[in-house]
Amino acid sequence: MKVLITGGSRGIGRACVERFAKDGHRVVFLYRQNTEAAEETSRLTGALAIRANLSLPSDATAAVTAATEFLGGLDVLVNNAGISQIKLFTDVTDTDWQTMLNTNLSGSFYVTREAAKTMIANQQGRIINIGSMWGKVGASCEVPYSAAKAGLRGMTMALAKELGPSGITVNCIEPGVIATEMNATLTEDTLSSLRDETPLCRLGRPEEVAALAAFLASDEAGFITGQCIGIDGGFAV
Ligand code: NDP
Repeated sequence: MKVLITGGSRGIGRACVERFAKDGHRVVFLYRQNTEAAEETSRLTGALAIRANLSLPSDATAAVTAATEFLGGLDVLVNNAGISQIKLFTDVTDTDWQTMLNTNLSGSFYVTREAAKTMIANQQGRIINIGSMWGKVGASCEVPYSAAKAGLRGMTMALAKELGPSGITVNCIEPGVIATEMNATLTEDTLSSLRDETPLCRLGRPEEVAALAAFLASDEAGFITGQCIGIDGGFAV
């Protein structure tokens, strides 16, 4: 399969690049600025890295076009790129709000709009959005993030209905707390209470999220669409 993964330089995205490459697929991934991490991912997997700021429509569209040309088509899109921010709601600035929404929701829209053209032409495709359990249950002091991820849920369900007749499935993976750099700024006390609140009493691993993405892209998952699937150790049940 020809696979495009956004935010593939680090964390869950890198685990997805590794998994799809290991399974024998051709992979291109996008990243924003961390060239060192992107080069490391490329070196580990052989995947092509393309630098693009997905919160800019022109960057996102150009990157998808370049990836599709390189791959000679597109079968699977994993919308993984994202950023988090922890802030009291009353301290959230207009810029904070726009940055969170542009990156976590609009970026997926720009990328998916371009990718869907190829998939519709081919009458097949898999779109996998990486949401968050906070998009389902909301997180205190993460209102813009939660709102953006909730938007991704709506986009998933609506797009599944629109693209189903074209043979394209659209699903959303909603991770709980996963051990990546995104959580590196959390104190050990916070991480410990997040572990305690997780029924399985641990953080998730990026590879576990990648395994679910690989399943949703597989033939066995061909009748699953419009679903928001939690992978959170039971946190958001
Ligand atoms: P990381 O911070 O480890 O990696 C984020 C990735 O997204 C990087 O590759 C980064 O590129 C890329 N990225 C960020 N902004 C942009 C942008 N504007 N344009 C292009 N690429 C961008 O994050 P995680 O792996 O932890 O998270 C991945 C996804 O999973 C996110 O959508 C996140 O919201 C979601 N998630 C994560 C959870 C967690 O606990 N970690 C829990 C629930 C959901 P660069 O390296 O260049 O900065």
